[in-house]
Amino acid sequence: MKNYHLTPEQFREEGKKIIDWIADYYENIEKYPVLSQVEPGEIKASLPEQPPQKGEPFSQIMHDLDEKIMSGITHWQSPNFYGYFPSNTSFPSILGDLVSSGLGVQGMIWATSPAATELETRVLDWLAEMMDMPEKFKSTSTGGGVIQDTASTSALTAVIAARERATKYESNKTGVRQKLVAYVSSQTHSSLEKAIKMAGIGSENLRMIDVDDQFAMRPEMLQKQIQEDKKNGLLPFFVCATIGTTSSTAMDPVREIGEICRAENCWLHVDAAMAGTAMACPEFRHLKDGVELADSYCFNPHKWMFTNLDCDVFWVANRNELINTFSILPEYLKNKATETGAVFDYRDWHVQLGRRFRSLKLWFVIRHYGAEGLQFHIRKHVEMAQNFASWVRESDDFEIVVEPQINLVCFRHKSDDDFNMKLMNTVNETGKAFFTHTKLNNRVVLRMSIGQTHTEERHVKETWQLIKATAEHLLKNRKAKN
Ligand SMILES: *Cc1c(COP(=O)(O)O)cnc(C)c1O
Repeated sequence: MKNYHLTPEQFREEGKKIIDWIADYYENIEKYPVLSQVEPGEIKASLPEQPPQKGEPFSQIMHDLDEKIMSGITHWQSPNFYGYFPSNTSFPSILGDLVSSGLGVQGMIWATSPAATELETRVLDWLAEMMDMPEKFKSTSTGGGVIQDTASTSALTAVIAARERATKYESNKTGVRQKLVAYVSSQTHSSLEKAIKMAGIGSENLRMIDVDDQFAMRPEMLQKQIQEDKKNGLLPFFVCATIGTTSSTAMDPVREIGEICRAENCWLHVDAAMAGTAMACPEFRHLKDGVELADSYCFNPHKWMFTNLDCDVFWVANRNELINTFSILPEYLKNKATETGAVFDYRDWHVQLGRRFRSLKLWFVIRHYGAEGLQFHIRKHVEMAQNFASWVRESDDFEIVVEPQINLVCFRHKSDDDFNMKLMNTVNETGKAFFTHTKLNNRVVLRMSIGQTHTEERHVKETWQLIKATAEHLLKNRKAKN
C-alpha cells in the first residue's frame, strides 16, 4: 500500500544524523553570536509563503535548518549566555525527551499509560526527598507532585485551587461572587498577576506589598493590608511568596508570611521557579525556611536543573484540594482504575487534559547526575557568580547592587543609567556574551545570571574582561567627544 512515511530503517539513518548534528552544535556553540543578530521579519521572509505540495527529502530540510533557521537562534545553551535566567538542558535530558517523543504517550490518566503516571509520582517524591521538602508534599502523605509546563501554569493552578477552597468549591458552579483578594510583592513575577486576571479574581483585587531594601516582601505590610481589606468586607484568600525573584533573586521570608497565611486562612503558594534548584544543596536550604507552611510550591527544572523546557515541578500539601477543583469525569474516560481510587489521574491536578511523558527526561537527568552530580554543578555555578561578584567589588568603576545569594549578580557601572545600557548593548552586539538588565529602585542594574550547563570559570572571566574593556573604551570615547 502506498504511503509517505519514513520506514524505521530510514528513521534510524536520519535520526543518527540528527544526533550528530546536535553534538556538532554543542562542539561549535561558542562560534555563534550568543544573541541572534537578525532583524524582525528576516527569518519569515527567507521561508516560502506557500507550504510544499510535495514532500521534500530530509537532506533538504536539514540544509534549510542550517541556512535559514540557525541565524535566528539566540543560543540559550551557549556557555556565554548570562541573560534573564538560565534555561539549561543537558544530553541526558535531550535523550530522555527523545524517548518521550518516540513513545508518543498521551498520559492524561493512569489508564492511558500507567508508567507515565507512576514514574512521575516516583520522580517527584525523589526530588522532594533530595531537596528535603516537607513530608506532606510527597504522594505517600496527603499531597504530591505533578509536572506542569511552566511556573506560570502552576501559579494559575494554585490561584484557582485557592479560590475554590476559599469559596467552599462554589465558584466553580456559580462564578466568583465574593470579593476575593490576593497578595504578592512588588517584585513577584508577572505570571501571578496574569493568573489573578485569568482566574476571574481581577487585577484590582491584587495587592502589591512593599519590599525591604533587599527587595523581599515586608510581612508586617502584608499583615496590615490583610487587616484593612478584611475591615472593608473583602476576603483575603491567596498569597504568593517568592524564593528568588526574577529581577534580583530576592528571598521573601517564607516563614513569617506563612504564619500570617495560617492565621488568616490564606493559601500560600511559594514560587521558587529558578532558585528552587539550589535546594538540592543543604547549604541553601535556609532559603526555604518555613516552606512546611505552604499549600503549594513550584520550581522549574527547566531553568537551572539541566532539564529542557518544559518542566515545572508543582507540589501541593493536600492533593484533594486540587482534585476537588479540577476533576471532571466524562463517560468516555470512565475506567476501573479511576473508580477504585487506587491511582492518580493527573488530568485532575491541572488545567490541561493531554500530557506528555515529561518525567522521562527528569528521570534520565536525576539518574545520570545523581544528587551528587547535581550538587556539584549547582555549587560550581554559585561559586562562579561569587567570583564574578568579587571582581566587581575589587574594581573602581563598578559596584554590586544587591549581595548575590546564589547564582545571579546584580551590578552596575558607577556611571549613569544611559551608560550602563550602552555598555550592555555594546557587549551584547559583539555576540561574544549576552546579559540583560533590570531596574531596582528606578535605576538600571546589569544582571549576570550564571547557570548554563557548560559555563566554566574561563567563560565568566573572559566576559568580565570584555565588560571592563568595553566600559573603558566607551568612557574614552565619551571624554573625547566632550
Ligand atoms: C522565570 C520565572 C517565572 C516564570 O516561569 P515560566 O516557567 O516561564 O512560567 C515565574 N516566577 C519566577 C520567580 C521566575 O523566575
